[in-house]
Amino acid sequence: MCGPAHHLAHGHNHQGHVETPAATGQPQQEMRPCPRCGAQVQEDFVFCPRCGAELLTACPECHRAVETGWTHCAYCGAELVDA
Ligand SMILES: [Zn+2]
Ligand SMILES: [Zn+2]
Repeated sequence: MCGPAHHLAHGHNHQGHVETPAATGQPQQEMRPCPRCGAQVQEDFVFCPRCGAELLTACPECHRAVETGWTHCAYCGAELVDA
């Protein structure tokens, strides 16, 4: 009656213990899928490291990622022109 099911119930609980890298003090990077190849890339990546797709517009001056629709870079103030 009390068969192996009882043993299984006490098996590994993957939800209880999650292997996380030791706290480094760095905030967790948000990841998102590349629209072209689907690779998980950091949210602030400008280009997909796997397929080279342009993920964000990069400021021509400081090369930081800028949002679509911005007319000026929020970081260095460079004018962003829509090519
Ligand atoms: Zn990609
Ligand atoms: Zn800039």
